[in-house]
Amino acid sequence: MLDISAALPLLDSPKKIFITTHHKPDGDALGSSLGLYHYLIQKGHSVTVVSPSEVPDFLQWMPGIETVLNFESEPKQALQVLSDCDLIFCLDFNSLSRIKAMEAALREAPQPKILIDHHLLPEADVFIYGVSAPEKSSTCEMIYDFILLDKGADLLNEAIMQCLYTGMMTDTGSFRFSSTTGSVHTMVADFKSRGFQHSLIHDQIYDSWSEKRMRFLGFVLYEKMEIYPEQKTGLIAISNEEIKRLGSGTADTEGMVNYPLSIAGIEKSILIIERKDEVKLSFRSKGTIDVSSFAREHFNGGGHLNAAGGQSKESLEQVKTKIKNLLHLN
Ligand code: 5GP
Ligand code: MN
Repeated sequence: MLDISAALPLLDSPKKIFITTHHKPDGDALGSSLGLYHYLIQKGHSVTVVSPSEVPDFLQWMPGIETVLNFESEPKQALQVLSDCDLIFCLDFNSLSRIKAMEAALREAPQPKILIDHHLLPEADVFIYGVSAPEKSSTCEMIYDFILLDKGADLLNEAIMQCLYTGMMTDTGSFRFSSTTGSVHTMVADFKSRGFQHSLIHDQIYDSWSEKRMRFLGFVLYEKMEIYPEQKTGLIAISNEEIKRLGSGTADTEGMVNYPLSIAGIEKSILIIERKDEVKLSFRSKGTIDVSSFAREHFNGGGHLNAAGGQSKESLEQVKTKIKNLLHLN
């Protein structure tokens, strides 16, 4: 994989650009994709963002979200855009398995692929150009770096700043996690000097819950959260039936994995969600506890040192038992 700076000349003339990100996109995935979209269209490119699955409700306010193609619901159109494009940007994921049903088409696409990502162990041989920086807070911060590298700071408009701030804020847990380096605050300071209104983004993301979602969280914390003080671990397992009966979809479980870590003494948290065709796991930890290797070794996953995910084809109960055995929870 060549350094991303080698890809800049490709953007000197108008191109058709395909941007994609991971399945079940979060704030950083869509923030980075749309932030880059709003930058590249100003430079005269024709740009399409394709998400492997639907956009969650809590991100529907993002500028440009109405242009995002959902591969699951519009596969033909998305494949057409892919075959017509000149360049492919892959944002906020490290391995093509994370784009699920789009994997084969993207792997075979002959156009140059450019990676911008902050997960450990990228599948580097797939990408001609790229930057992989696990020390970065978010892919959104890396898009900001990319714009500066491209000497495009003058093009930073409200839409770009809203998108990039969203992913940086969500991936750092609102500037709390240890990934919140000085460069995070430098980017925010730059945005503020350009008149950016950050509180609007906090309102959109954190103060826009439905009553149903809030009550679902109450149910989960009261009925489903298991705390193992000796192992410093919290475990939450939620069935598909419970999500259907009490929530309004798997997006309602977003962020729930973080709650056990707010309990004094808890340093590791696991959320297990039963989906239609698989069980999805989320892992969070504090300090030097490495959940990324754990996710990789046992659940076909990966991610970052303190935030990782994985999946399993076993049943919810089987996965829960496996976790309890592996971590000696009893
Ligand atoms: P989440 O728990 O929010 O789904 O994911 C936490 C982090 O781990 C994210 O940065 C996400 O990209 C990564 N991650 C989640 N699931 C997987 C997976 O199945 N494979 C890999 N390699 N990374 C994952
Ligand atoms: Mn991210």
